[in-house]
Amino acid sequence: MEKYQSYIDGKWIDSSSGKTIKVDNPATGEIIGEVACATNKDVDMAVESAKKSFESRILVDMNPMDRAKLMRRIADELRNVSKEAGKLLCYENGKLLSGAEYEFVDAANYFDYYGGLTDKLEGQSIPVSKNVIDYTLLEPYGVSAHVIPWNFPISMIGRSLACSFATGNSTVIKTPELTPLAAASFFAQALEKAGIPKGSINIICGYGEEAGSYLVSHPNVNHIAFTGSVPTGKKILHAAADKAIPAVVELGGKSAGIVYPDADLDKVVNSAKTAIFGVAGQICSAMSRLVVHKSVKDQLVDKLVDLTKNLKVGPGYEKGVDCTPVISKNQLEKVEGYARSGIQAGAEAIAGGKICDRKGYFFESTVLNNVTQDMTVAREEIFGPVLSIIDYEEPEEAIKIANDTEYGLAAGIFTNNIDQATIASNQLEAGQIYVNSWFTGSIATPFGGYKQSGFSREKGQQALKSYLQVKNVGIQL
Ligand code: NAD
Repeated sequence: MEKYQSYIDGKWIDSSSGKTIKVDNPATGEIIGEVACATNKDVDMAVESAKKSFESRILVDMNPMDRAKLMRRIADELRNVSKEAGKLLCYENGKLLSGAEYEFVDAANYFDYYGGLTDKLEGQSIPVSKNVIDYTLLEPYGVSAHVIPWNFPISMIGRSLACSFATGNSTVIKTPELTPLAAASFFAQALEKAGIPKGSINIICGYGEEAGSYLVSHPNVNHIAFTGSVPTGKKILHAAADKAIPAVVELGGKSAGIVYPDADLDKVVNSAKTAIFGVAGQICSAMSRLVVHKSVKDQLVDKLVDLTKNLKVGPGYEKGVDCTPVISKNQLEKVEGYARSGIQAGAEAIAGGKICDRKGYFFESTVLNNVTQDMTVAREEIFGPVLSIIDYEEPEEAIKIANDTEYGLAAGIFTNNIDQATIASNQLEAGQIYVNSWFTGSIATPFGGYKQSGFSREKGQQALKSYLQVKNVGIQL
């Protein structure tokens, strides 16, 4: 079995305890590799290395054009390995091979995008008085700790790291214990090959409550970027508050798509295929609820049932597969529990509803009809392939149902009426509004939540603001 190490201070090292974390293939349950399990001592080393790198000002003082070239080299290296690295990610995460390969391309795109902005981080000149020159400088925070979730580990590293690096922060990345392998190997090697300064990026893996918690509370960490669940996000915010440092928090969701009577129902079905049944529904901005006008509900439900019948279930590395496993046995049991609770509360499983009868952690693509907003399935993030259908009669009711959640990551609108789409976009409480197709954004569009889904923004130029602080300089002439 292949053993993977931490990447600290430009060196590959085992855990100081000798312990490892074993990683399995969700499609079979077989162990496929193990990674060094970082101890507090290892976290200390990684933070110390990042601190030294930051204090040397090697990134900060680097000509922005040179930092851009370095970032483009990282992008090239990530693209070069996307096929091979995608295979490993596919095996550890369970997702489709094409999606796993794309994560490396996606990460590369972030490095290209933010690389292109390194020489455009401009301060301001402020008129104060005739004898004063006043201007602002945009400066990095120092050591930035990034805590990463398992569902899109490589994309998520690319998303926060490219911003952090472009702005001159030195970074320590804590990869997720369930999917650390592709990051510990291909990603770290790409950084090394591109020639990053020693210690400017360190990659470790460890358990959240151990290495993760110790890292974000570390006295020498000056900034946190966290992507994960709401309960962990709240702990992160407490840790940040204790030290009065900023934290970027990108959290979970319970997003609803509203289907108006004039909607093109095939567009709804196409969105469902990727946005709730793709990656086994383990997507923060998954379309987990559909709020459907009564007049079109039966027709839509028939189309959704047809869709689920035609989805091929299997490991992500097999050809022609649409539906892949969830990440772990725990997750499988959790999803099953949610589906059961919905059925017990009165919802009807018109498709799926059960664990698949095969090895691995597969759950049937599930459509629950006649769900009401008081049911747990309509309120909590399931993070599995379970779609809840809730009906409505009046347009105001649809908005009320969609907004009736503690989350606010994304929302969707399916209609051919531009007035309807615009009014609903204004009224929906979510950071992303998708009209007539889910996931319409790109790496260039700001992404983040309303309400408990978080308040930061990643992606786009907006994200850079979270990685920079403003210094004002006044010169008396
Ligand atoms: P999680 O909160 O369980 O874990 C996320 C990361 O936090 C992991 O690396 C984990 O080890 C670490 N962690 C756990 N406890 C910690 C602690 N006390 N201190 C520090 N670190 C700790 O989330 P997950 O199960 O890995 O990911 C799924 C969640 O992430 C879902 O809620 C999903 O919606 C969310 N997510 C959000 C986005 C977004 O951009 N908004 C993107 C992807 C995933």
